[in-house]
Amino acid sequence: MAARVAAKRAAASAGSNGSAGVRAPVAKRARTSDAETRLPTLTAGEYDAVVLDIEGTTTPLTFVHDTLFPYARQRVAAYLRENWEKEEVQSAVAALRQQAEKDVEAKTPGAVAVPTEPRDAAVDATTATVHRLMDADSKTTGLKQLQGLMWEAGYKSGQLRGPVFDDVPKAIKHWHEHKIPVFIYSSGSVHAQKLLFRFSDRGDLLPLLDGHFDTTTGPKVDASSYDAIAQHVAGSWPVSRFLFATDNVREADAAAAAKESTWLPVVAERPGNKETGSHPFPVVRDFQTLL
Ligand SMILES: [Mg+2]
Repeated sequence: MAARVAAKRAAASAGSNGSAGVRAPVAKRARTSDAETRLPTLTAGEYDAVVLDIEGTTTPLTFVHDTLFPYARQRVAAYLRENWEKEEVQSAVAALRQQAEKDVEAKTPGAVAVPTEPRDAAVDATTATVHRLMDADSKTTGLKQLQGLMWEAGYKSGQLRGPVFDDVPKAIKHWHEHKIPVFIYSSGSVHAQKLLFRFSDRGDLLPLLDGHFDTTTGPKVDASSYDAIAQHVAGSWPVSRFLFATDNVREADAAAAAKESTWLPVVAERPGNKETGSHPFPVVRDFQTLL
């Protein structure tokens, strides 16, 4: 893998001045105490498009589990009471009702049926169903729908903010100004990605992003997903070398193995991330080192 990445990087470096708006590579390498033991990071000119993972890369790994999930859990009863009549809420509740019915039939512990009325009983049973499904780390449609609605309301009311690391807005602005398109590829839905960047704790970053991909494009650990993204991007942008920042080495491996497009993965090491173990990819702790 190391040889393969090195070969790809060498190929990518050749003729690196040809991209519109990309300035020539500069000698601005990561200087960390253990820099000698690591590959230097990529620099401008080696790539002409950027793809960013979110959790553990632009944003603390714990945000979804420590902020979004508890928010949904705590808010669900009040949210349902306040928004019960809304069509999109009823659509999510209908999906949850179906799921609850199935689970009651299957004698799933804790499962309760969700009545259509009276309203108080329906709200209570829907809340209990949401809590039970969240305890089971369920990804069922009704739950995801309702969580999405609550998070959207939370962001819009200012109760939620999408946290991004300090260096992220600066880097995204830099790429935007240098006409290097920036895309997001995250397992969170495109809708959730957009909310996070629109309501980030550094202001609205959404206008600086050029596109979003989620797992409907394919799993993040499949090489073919990266070819699919490259193909999609090629429709609108004359780019061929993708810088891909992720905290997940398996995703970096998958991107490096893309067959029809050139991907240059870097592995993000951020506060709170899990240990990655040894891998052949450049390590990035601050996006400034990529500019
Ligand atoms: Mg990640």
